[in-house]
Amino acid sequence: MALLQIAEPNMSAAPHQHRLAVGIDLGTTNSLVATVKSGAASCLADENGEMTLPSVVRYVGNENKIVGKKALSEQKLDPQNTISSAKRLIGRKLPEIDTAHMPYRFGKSEQIIELQTKNGLKTPIDVSADILRELRERAEQSLGGELVGAVITVPAYFDDAQRQATKDAARLAGLNVLRLLNEPTAAAIAYGLDNAAEGTFVVYDLGGGTFDVSVLQLSKGLFEVKATGGNSALGGDDFDHRLFCHIVENNQLSLTDERDVQLLFGLVRHAKEELSRQPEAHIVAELSSGKQINTLITRAEFHALTQHLVAKTIEPVKQALKDAGVAKSDIKGVIMVGGATRMLHVQQAVGAFFGQTPLNNLNPDQVVALGAAMQANVLAGNKNDGEWLLLDVTPLSLGLETYGGLAEKIIPRNSTLPTARAQEFTTFKDGQTAMTIHVVQGERELVADCRSLAKFTLRGIPPMVAGAARIRVTFQVDADGLLSVSAREQTTGVQAQVEVKPSYGLDDETITQMLRDSMSNAKDDAAARARAEAKVEAEGLISAIQAALTLDGDLLSADELNQINGLIARLIASLSAHTAEQIRALVQELSHATDDFAARRMDRNIQRALGGMRVEDL
Ligand code: AMP
Repeated sequence: MALLQIAEPNMSAAPHQHRLAVGIDLGTTNSLVATVKSGAASCLADENGEMTLPSVVRYVGNENKIVGKKALSEQKLDPQNTISSAKRLIGRKLPEIDTAHMPYRFGKSEQIIELQTKNGLKTPIDVSADILRELRERAEQSLGGELVGAVITVPAYFDDAQRQATKDAARLAGLNVLRLLNEPTAAAIAYGLDNAAEGTFVVYDLGGGTFDVSVLQLSKGLFEVKATGGNSALGGDDFDHRLFCHIVENNQLSLTDERDVQLLFGLVRHAKEELSRQPEAHIVAELSSGKQINTLITRAEFHALTQHLVAKTIEPVKQALKDAGVAKSDIKGVIMVGGATRMLHVQQAVGAFFGQTPLNNLNPDQVVALGAAMQANVLAGNKNDGEWLLLDVTPLSLGLETYGGLAEKIIPRNSTLPTARAQEFTTFKDGQTAMTIHVVQGERELVADCRSLAKFTLRGIPPMVAGAARIRVTFQVDADGLLSVSAREQTTGVQAQVEVKPSYGLDDETITQMLRDSMSNAKDDAAARARAEAKVEAEGLISAIQAALTLDGDLLSADELNQINGLIARLIASLSAHTAEQIRALVQELSHATDDFAARRMDRNIQRALGGMRVEDL
């Protein structure tokens, strides 16, 4: 896979003019903003010296709101109006979400998630915009000027709807989005540039709400993304949730007051974090009913309770290694990202899997923001042209339907973005003036097993014999993962195109399932493809012979005609029942049986062309 060198047009700054640009890690639990000053990236603090902004907003009525630490501390008092982990909801629909432990009052719309608050209905986009606005204001105050733009990070497996929603939130917050960047990619930028590492590395990113893994090749400051994988519904919150359930079960609680739920969630999170530093933690609380809780949790107990969650992260790691075509032993280092990688059993499991101690010499909470800031600095034109940028990859192959229901892959899975590829196609029938382009996504051979993304029709193809038209179909995926497909007939220049959202509605589990299916069905798929191809060949031959018989059937004796018609009938019958080899054998037989007929037709056509003269006379 080639690395793309990107120099953004119109972005080179005058020599002494530094454009203010920031990187923002919009996290499930916490968010950060960073910038590059005097060549070094650092996180920006608020007026109290705090860098981490809890991703929490409390809506207090009369259009007033509180964002960050204060909102988090008041969450227990006002759980319904205090929104946290909006990243789990952004770009999703209500039926896709497990609302069981969420204290919010959801609106009725099934299309977009709405939360009823004292400031009216709020979408997760509004909540994220409030967090981003706070970070923009912090940055502008701290840097003393308006920002030209921001790079905002998202989990690698965020689908198109989630990416679009994040962009919308940024626009609402008054930010110019220079680029959305995958979180592990940003971390690699931070590590690669700081440490000038070489070799194949894995980025293991366990944050509050998401898990991402990337396999990257780094050499002399150049990066190549080999593969990505992950689980967008697994993170530190799930460890909190498991510990929460344990406390509820152990104390035989039936929690009816939402404030108690919030209180306990805060306490178990704190205990979990304590256990990364100390061998035991206490959970002490008094519930609204007056019931006292005083539970001691040991690190060993906590590890036993949550070991299955740690194990769940290893499967996507294995898949990413497989996709990248590398063995565990090829991995030179494992970069740990995300606050949840501080948990000791996570570090132990990753270390045991790779047979080496993971790298965590940069602050796992900050690396993503720092890498995003470095990328923003380049995109804003503060570095020399020709800076290498590390870009994202397509999670599944993109292609189109060809005759016979086959999927032709145009952009293979794990291609680095942005990417563009073109391929020429032709018409199948004589005089065909329109062609339907069916864009599909997936690894399977048959269109029926892939995911349909869009269909559009190219009209106005000049009538020609089958196979003569040259239709160039171009697939383009931009840096944010949005696909546009265009088709152009080369002789006339007629053109049609469509914009599609390739990953819309696909979560990582669906992607994993599609990949699994493609592997387990590879043998059947290959047979189906061979059959479909043989069928296309047979149908082409039959239709050509039938057209020739209509024109020149008189060149054949009755016996010859019978023999050919008999073979055509056998071939048609075989199409629905026989294997590729059997169909191909009959195609050969029919082709052979019509050799003589073809020669006679050629003679006749030459005679016609010569207008009655004989070849020998010329
Ligand atoms: P992030 O999304 O990267 O900010 O990660 C936040 C997650 O990391 C939350 O689930 C935190 O509870 C968790 N976290 C932060 N510090 C620690 C710690 N010392 N031990 C365990 N988990 C932590």
